[in-house]
Amino acid sequence: MLEIRNLAVDYGKHVALQGVSLDVAEGETVVMLGANGSGKSTLLKVIAGLVRPREGASIGFLDAPLLGRKAHEILERGVALVPEGRGIFPELTVAENLLLGAYPRRARSDEAANLAKVFDLFPRLAERRRQPVATMSGGEQQMVAIGRALMSAPRLLMLDEPSLGLAPVLVGELFEVLATVRESGISLLIVEQNVRISLSIADRGYLLEAGRIVGEGSAATLADDPSVQHAFLGVASDA
Ligand code: ATP
Repeated sequence: MLEIRNLAVDYGKHVALQGVSLDVAEGETVVMLGANGSGKSTLLKVIAGLVRPREGASIGFLDAPLLGRKAHEILERGVALVPEGRGIFPELTVAENLLLGAYPRRARSDEAANLAKVFDLFPRLAERRRQPVATMSGGEQQMVAIGRALMSAPRLLMLDEPSLGLAPVLVGELFEVLATVRESGISLLIVEQNVRISLSIADRGYLLEAGRIVGEGSAATLADDPSVQHAFLGVASDA
């Protein structure tokens, strides 16, 4: 479904990604594990059309090239990003934030049905639909961000460190919701430092270190690999 080959990104003299190739199959959940600064967010931003890579890379989505397309065109094709820090509008209500997500032409005609699905997935958002997002907890705000991305009826949902800043109990709840999203057939590409819980819902994973992919395997293999826990992710693996 998503095929990335030979991706490199420079920020001035700093090489953020180098020689990155990866795949996500239809219906698959893939997690990208890596420490702070390893290039995880940059990867998602390139796919979403927000950062331009060096010449020589290719990104294919459902057999069409994505590189060179504008961010809104990529969203229109079914690739949605839940950015780190969530990118929601705090002064707007839950419902207003969600409806902003129904931006792609493809999703507009199904707006009411998609909103009902999001409220099914997150009953708390239904209860609080008229509440300004600024007054909600971190976990609830993350739900709004995910719900808004789902309003675009994505085929591939990308999440940038969704567990960041959440209490452990909320991280558990969040990943239960992501497991439900996965069961609905949407492919997931999740960037995380939280090794154990992200692998628990993933099919496969990659390890990113200083901008390069240094390992990959099935979620079960990576979860059992002591080097994943220690060499790459240090104490973050216990988070
Ligand atoms: P984190 O987990 O801390 O969010 P990350 O793995 O997502 O990290 P990136 O945000 O992709 O990492 O950043 C990779 C590297 O590129 C870092 O060293 C970062 O400082 C650098 N970088 C990111 N964005 C820019 C930018 N706009 N200009 C210059 N350097 C940048």
